[in-house]
Amino acid sequence: MSPDDAPQGGKIQNGRKNTLNIRPYIVESLNYLRTLGLFRLSLDPFLIIDVDAHHGNGNAYTFLHDDQVTLLDVYNQDIYPLNPLNPLNPVSRERVNISVPLPSDTSGKDYLNQLELALSKLSPGPKIAFVVAGTDVLATDPLGGLRLTVEDVAAREQLIYQRLKELNISMVFLGGGGYGKESAQAIIESLKAFQGKK
Ligand SMILES: [Zn+2]
Repeated sequence: MSPDDAPQGGKIQNGRKNTLNIRPYIVESLNYLRTLGLFRLSLDPFLIIDVDAHHGNGNAYTFLHDDQVTLLDVYNQDIYPLNPLNPLNPVSRERVNISVPLPSDTSGKDYLNQLELALSKLSPGPKIAFVVAGTDVLATDPLGGLRLTVEDVAAREQLIYQRLKELNISMVFLGGGGYGKESAQAIIESLKAFQGKK
């Protein structure tokens, strides 16, 4: 497997070189909701909040021309996907509606402040939100290049949860990238923080 073919960022390749996404999870979920009569593809608005450390270029391409999809993406601007030779890269970054590009080594405090500001820009309306909750934002992650602690990750998920509750938007949390030794612990702490909440 060449580096170009290797899955990175905890996301799934859609066959296009240097394009990673979670499209199967999201589109299949939406298809399932559609079969239940709960969702109309390309008609009902929905939201993707991508807080994986990598820019979600796959979803940006997948929904490039679908204005029913709002993308909020908080990512390290200095890591993959970053290919100045690929003219599509600026297109995928520009597709993001609420974009929070961060420099490498951003602290948990700054990350959470920026996330909170981005979340404040959301409006009611989407029928459902998918949250790509990668743990590769941890300082101990070898790929993400950010500086969050396990507690910061749990706080991040709570900020997102509270805001979506305020806006009365149903939500699905999905895994994302996470390559360090604290990844599992961050997920456990995040789940513990959800205990007792409806
Ligand atoms: Zn990632």
